Amino acid sequence: MKIMVSACLAGENCKYNGGNNRHEKILKLMSENEVILVCPEMLGGLLTPREPCEIRDGVVMARDGRNVDAEFRAGAAKCLEIARREQPDLIVLQPRSPSCGVKRRYDGTFSGVLVDGAGVTAQLLMENGFRVIDVEDLK
Ligand code: SF4
Repeated sequence: MKIMVSACLAGENCKYNGGNNRHEKILKLMSENEVILVCPEMLGGLLTPREPCEIRDGVVMARDGRNVDAEFRAGAAKCLEIARREQPDLIVLQPRSPSCGVKRRYDGTFSGVLVDGAGVTAQLLMENGFRVIDVEDLK
């Protein structure tokens, strides 16, 4: 199988705080499948570390008040371009991220409150017919 994965799940230090979300299931997946790693926020031109960002009223904002919607949407578009080229059978993403979250994301108040809804990259990939799942739902 060919699988696209959030790069932080594979242990790449591309998370906003310079860390990662290394996940044992992803490491196993990588040993048995062809895996393509993407970090939409870095593909959109953001640096690591960076300010945490959340979606508020449909717009991605950094905690310091900067509007980073254009960077997030550029990263999402690049991920879609890669997915169209590579045609992965499955896409596995990091939960709760304003880019990669599949089912839930933070509410835009930077207070740890979650709401239903996807991040901008997950949303775009799903709208374009790709099979996208949260790593927590990986069997
Ligand atoms: S944008 Fe996605 S891949 Fe990049 S650090 Fe955030 S959750 Fe991980």
